[in-house]
Amino acid sequence: MVLEMSQFVKSYECTLCHKTYHPSQNIMTCSNCGEQGILMIEYDYEKMKKVVNQAYFENNKDQSMWRYLPLMSIEGKFHERLLKIGFTPLYQANRFHQRIGLNKLFIKDESTNPSQSLKDRASAVAVLKALEMNQDTIACSSTGNAASSLACHAARMGLKTYIFVPKRAPLGKLTQLLIYGANVIQVDGDYRSAFKLSKDAINHYGWYNRNAAINPHLVEGKKTVALEIAEQLNFKPTDWVVVSVGDGCTIAGVYQGFYDLKMLGLIEKIPKLLGVQSEGCAPFVIAHQTKKPLIETNELTIADSIAVGIPRNPVKALRAVIESKGNWISVSDQDIIYTMAKLGKDEGIFAEPAASASFAGLEKAIRLNIIDKNESVTVIHTGNGLKDLDNAQKAIKQPIVMKADLALFNEYYQTKGE
Ligand SMILES: *Cc1c(COP(=O)(O)O)cnc(C)c1O
Ligand SMILES: [Zn+2]
Repeated sequence: MVLEMSQFVKSYECTLCHKTYHPSQNIMTCSNCGEQGILMIEYDYEKMKKVVNQAYFENNKDQSMWRYLPLMSIEGKFHERLLKIGFTPLYQANRFHQRIGLNKLFIKDESTNPSQSLKDRASAVAVLKALEMNQDTIACSSTGNAASSLACHAARMGLKTYIFVPKRAPLGKLTQLLIYGANVIQVDGDYRSAFKLSKDAINHYGWYNRNAAINPHLVEGKKTVALEIAEQLNFKPTDWVVVSVGDGCTIAGVYQGFYDLKMLGLIEKIPKLLGVQSEGCAPFVIAHQTKKPLIETNELTIADSIAVGIPRNPVKALRAVIESKGNWISVSDQDIIYTMAKLGKDEGIFAEPAASASFAGLEKAIRLNIIDKNESVTVIHTGNGLKDLDNAQKAIKQPIVMKADLALFNEYYQTKGE
């Protein structure tokens, strides 16, 4: 089967051996390097420039990620029938920046996507790509949001899904899957085991593969978050963009989005990217500190969405940070929980642990002088806190319990009320 070419795609290039492929070739990974040979999509920017310029954005009425379709590697047929994904709000912080000693902070609120996380951008591309290829079933393994977003958009478009989740998937995300009608296989083991079984089943049944790192088109979906941040800031993005990192596809996508805009002459420079991980699962941070190749780590963190001991996209993610002159940082689960409560109180934002991690990482980066207080920053708020109530419970005080008696309330209010 031959993929129809998106108009500005020049070629696919292997991130390891740099072999190039014609975009009409129906491949996921490099034939030389196997599964490690993740492909990059190369665009013809000179040609693209003629269509994608300042005027293109001024005249575009689409208020979703599909306003960036000419910058993507898919045709995008049927996208009008999807739920609304992208063009999420970019808020300037009202208070949280003062708490952490920063002058200017923007929050890109990805929790407002249909399944309440940034993963919707990639899953939507997977669903459209599967439709383009006349596939009726999509499968993936996921720690949660990749799966719940896939189940959401596949349901909307009438596709079947097989989802392989690790045992520890939080109840909120698991419930989302089942409500969206997915076939859910809870694998006895960690993310690695779930990934392996999904791979074997995909190979066996020939389903469409939504495993993000392997599928080069999904990063193209994720990059739209960077395109939006830039456009929402009038093509003058902040000095830094902070992203929490598991597999590394999000940070790679963010870099790719800014890179595209730079190549098109729409922004002057690419923001420095701060990649944030959990101390209990920080293979990228360790690789950066030791200047050695990535080694497998444990997955000991409450931030399930970034608990990835063997990241599937190491090359693109490491390069994103190096080429943007950014940095890596890790935060403790305690920092994540503490920050979750502060964000809720300061900004009315309820972040799941992996999203709270990026704000905690920003706080730490300021404390360690990695980020200067006069630099401007955007944090990507990647997922909604309601997805994981068990961990959110650790961040809160319990409510006051009393009988319906004003005298009792008065006593409470006068001694302990705010
Ligand atoms: C997936 C995810 C991330 C990290 O994305 P990767 O591509 O795995 O690095 C961060 N936050 C949330 C909420 C996520 O779901
Ligand atoms: Zn290769």
